[in-house]
Amino acid sequence: PAEEDAAPLRISVIGTGYLGATHAAAMAELGFDVIGVDMDPSKIAALERGEVPFFEPGLPSLISRHVATGKLSFTTDLKAAVQASDVHFICVGTPQHPSSHAADLRFVDTATRAVAASLGHDGLIVGKSTVPVGTAARLREIVSEAAPAAVHAELVWNPEFLREGMAVEDTLHPDRVVIGGASPWAEERLRRVYDAALASGVPLISCDLPTAELVKVSANAFLATKISFINAIAGLCEKADADVAVLADAIGYDPRIGRRFLNAGLGFGGGCLPKDIRALMHRAGELGAYSAVKLMQQVDEINMDQRQRVIDLTLRALGGSVLNARVAVLGAAFKPDTDDVRDSPALNVAAALHLRGAMVTVFDPAAGPTAGRLYPTLSYADDLESAVRSADIVLVLTEWDEFRNADPTRLGALVERRLVVDGRNCLPVETWRDAGWEYWGLGHTSGA
Ligand code: NAD
Repeated sequence: PAEEDAAPLRISVIGTGYLGATHAAAMAELGFDVIGVDMDPSKIAALERGEVPFFEPGLPSLISRHVATGKLSFTTDLKAAVQASDVHFICVGTPQHPSSHAADLRFVDTATRAVAASLGHDGLIVGKSTVPVGTAARLREIVSEAAPAAVHAELVWNPEFLREGMAVEDTLHPDRVVIGGASPWAEERLRRVYDAALASGVPLISCDLPTAELVKVSANAFLATKISFINAIAGLCEKADADVAVLADAIGYDPRIGRRFLNAGLGFGGGCLPKDIRALMHRAGELGAYSAVKLMQQVDEINMDQRQRVIDLTLRALGGSVLNARVAVLGAAFKPDTDDVRDSPALNVAAALHLRGAMVTVFDPAAGPTAGRLYPTLSYADDLESAVRSADIVLVLTEWDEFRNADPTRLGALVERRLVVDGRNCLPVETWRDAGWEYWGLGHTSGA
């Protein structure tokens, strides 16, 4: 009925990790009443206190503000949250399956079924998690099985493109809004949810379910391909005495190419790109789309090879062995401005060197605690100075500003040897050289 549709929409967000916590806070900021739900009681308890269990600039203040205004609350009681809301965002994890390249869909399946079964009135279920194409159609069957017969339940897909480290900004000001499989009823509701963005001219792409699912996966696959492309070219630059950083600038001026995501180095990691390209590979294989399989295999392989190349570079810089060498690893997060260490190339390299007998000390401006939980056998420093003190070699593996802008003269006074491996091509080479450092990098002949 029209009068019901005109009432302000109330929102539940299922799963309050990186995606869900940010989405819930952003929806509250836009004026909606929002309930965030997670099955992890410690996460919910922290969020209720206005504490964010991970590092995301701007998010803690947004959450505290809206917990205080009462627009945002958190609970482990999914049923109560669903019954008190009209639009339900599914934001649970879709990690890589423990024993294959496929995505592990049990969390989305369980959450969707629970939401559908809890509906007390008409509800719009909006999938936001990244899923293999075909998942939403299967979830629709789950919804029609589980939802009470008396309510109208509809499931649509609305993939999320936020970047960790920029999550709040990206959620409040998305580049585009993609909605898959929406009936006019569902689209009208989602237009109300995204009214602020749409009113400011953000494009809305309303399409079928499989296209919406694939838009997200293809966007990540393209970004991953760009990184592996430049890393493949970096290998060629090394052989040909060319400089990949200059090359990337030069090709990046072409607007068809663009400079972003063309930084050669240790490659991508994190909770999204690696598992998303593997899930795409797996799903494309199931569907018989073999070109996509082959392309993603190469992208993954080139990316993983970069980790070995940084290990090899370190070995060469140290004259063949890291045994008993004191190695300072700067960076643990998979990229700067986050404490996310899921599939972190930096930690992978640190752990591999540790296994070869190096004495590794890791420092990261934000990810020390999360890294310590994942790799408890590595040692961690509290600050940059203590990490590099007496080091035989310094490895820069995550391009935090603190490392880019570090003073090589000051650091040079602390180390045993002025030997640096720049795994991210992020240091000003000449400044470091002038301060007496031997510089080793990827994609150019300098030092390497
Ligand atoms: P995450 O692991 O940080 O969070 C997932 C949360 O869901 C966890 O807190 C978990 O406890 C909760 N959960 C799982 N099952 C539940 C259930 N049945 N009921 C309630 N809560 C449940 O993961 P994330 O990084 O936020 O990613 C979530 C999804 O969003 C993934 O599909 C991911 O690919 C996608 N995504 C992530 C990002 C990102 O930058 N992190 C960006 C875009 C899309």
